[in-house]
Amino acid sequence: MISELRLVISKKKNMNKSNINIESLVRDNIRKLVPYSTARNESKLKNALFMDANESPFNTGYNRYPKPVNYELKREAARSINSALKPKGKEGLDGQNSLHGAGENVFKEVSAENVFVGNGSDEAIDLLFRVFCVPGVDNVVSIAPTYGMYRVAAAINNVEYRECALNANYSLDVETLLAVIDKNSKLVFLCSPNNPTGNLLSKESIINVAENFNGIVVVDEAYIDFSGDSGFTPYLFKYNNLVVLRTMSKSRGMAAIRVGFAYANPTIISFMEKVKYPYNLNKVSQELATKSLKEDNLSRVKVIIQERERLGCELSKLECVQKVYRSDSNFLLVKIDNPLEKIEALKSKGVVVRDRSTVPGCEECIRVSIGKKDENNLLLSILKGEEVEGYNNYIELSRITKETSVNLKIFKTGRGITNINTGVGFLDHMLELFSVHSGINIDIDVTGDLRVDAHHTIEDTALVLGEGINKLYGQLKGYNRYGFVLPMDESQATAVIDLGGRFGFEWDVKFASAFTGDFPTQMYSHFFSSLATAGKFTLHLKANGENDHHIAEALFKAFARAVRVALSNEIREYELPSSKGVI
Ligand SMILES: *Cc1c(COP(=O)(O)O)cnc(C)c1O
Repeated sequence: MISELRLVISKKKNMNKSNINIESLVRDNIRKLVPYSTARNESKLKNALFMDANESPFNTGYNRYPKPVNYELKREAARSINSALKPKGKEGLDGQNSLHGAGENVFKEVSAENVFVGNGSDEAIDLLFRVFCVPGVDNVVSIAPTYGMYRVAAAINNVEYRECALNANYSLDVETLLAVIDKNSKLVFLCSPNNPTGNLLSKESIINVAENFNGIVVVDEAYIDFSGDSGFTPYLFKYNNLVVLRTMSKSRGMAAIRVGFAYANPTIISFMEKVKYPYNLNKVSQELATKSLKEDNLSRVKVIIQERERLGCELSKLECVQKVYRSDSNFLLVKIDNPLEKIEALKSKGVVVRDRSTVPGCEECIRVSIGKKDENNLLLSILKGEEVEGYNNYIELSRITKETSVNLKIFKTGRGITNINTGVGFLDHMLELFSVHSGINIDIDVTGDLRVDAHHTIEDTALVLGEGINKLYGQLKGYNRYGFVLPMDESQATAVIDLGGRFGFEWDVKFASAFTGDFPTQMYSHFFSSLATAGKFTLHLKANGENDHHIAEALFKAFARAVRVALSNEIREYELPSSKGVI
């Protein structure tokens, strides 16, 4: 049997192992497997009348089965790797995106045949088990602590899971790992940057494993984009037993579509494809993944890295924090006094973090994903024991009509957490101003029938927001009730408000043009009167100026300021600042 011809493990370093016999590692039944085939694929026809798959002939946009293998997506996945690797001086994250280490003659661009596209990289992990591991006989080896899915996939496939504990500083000791391997070891999982420890494993250690293991070395690079390192795809052509996993779930912000990639030599890829479900990836995910890969994600990655460093620094100043581990990922592993208490305190304020304190090697640790700045600040405030309104303290409203669906959350105090998406760009911009100037943080998602016009979207947004404001002041005690703004230099808008439970509306504003951006100007009075109706408040608005965009902005700012004053119970805050020390 071919499997008996497998080489005995050799610990000789730097031997060139570019020719492991992959086929001999594959399970017999998989090697012999005749994969599911479709008539459509066999026909090789593209635009034919397909009467082969018992689909519906009526076009819903989704009546046909998706592509079993999407080559455009594979090419994009290959291109994204190659373009990140192209030497570009200091342009990369920190200039490390070069081909160093793989050897000059080693680097070739990866192409579509090196790519497997899975329903999340979790699918790729499971398929590697199914392709290579004989249940009840073979085993896999992994580091500890690490990503939990390897163990789960092993258990599901009835494959023994062996562990090699990382050193105290979470580095990998290759000798220890190789000692765990025996002749039935088929896969080694190396997660780098590692989850939950956050650190990259050293290049040398991974190469050392690839060179000294006669099985498949899986390097899971789910977090590589946050590390500034170029990862292991350049080594695919040197070590044919390497599989590099990447995902759209982390740096690309596409966790919901479930797309992950395995990069490897074409033999491994073809076996994974033989075993996968014929239509493992739905059409919507295929399209969204292709689109996302065409955009670069550097700016978002940069923000996360900055916040990671800032949050790490702030956390390490807290008395309860014993240690913040160095992270090459988008999360922090934090060793903290009484972790379970901290987790409860966070939970009571609506913040969920990952308890890792029961994981050997991560005693007393929690794992925190890096959020946006305000979210990280909220986490810090809670850990500091400050009095803050929790994330769970909000008013939630929704309105679903034939034309629109509006979902709104109003957070009770100003945290700057806002997500505004109405589908009307100009309205989004105005609501952002409203949020900033009123100190009311809103999270609003609107899906409206914009193909006809923006009318329903604008009206329903106003009605829901108005109702939200009504609820908000309904829950307050001792607020000012009346709000007003003094004319602001540039704005020339005045808003006066009475949050007293009675509707009233006065409008003295003229626009010169029909539209501001995608917002019809005649909808402004309708927007504000709907708001006042639903909010049960009296609102008088006055504005003039030359530029419609500025008038609109001034209106929203003035309104927001009036609301802020009315909701406040601390009038002194809004007194004119003293000129003392200025003059
Ligand atoms: C999040 C994560 C993944 C991603 O899995 P998907 O199935 O692609 O969402 C893979 N590996 C590790 C180590 C992870 O933490």
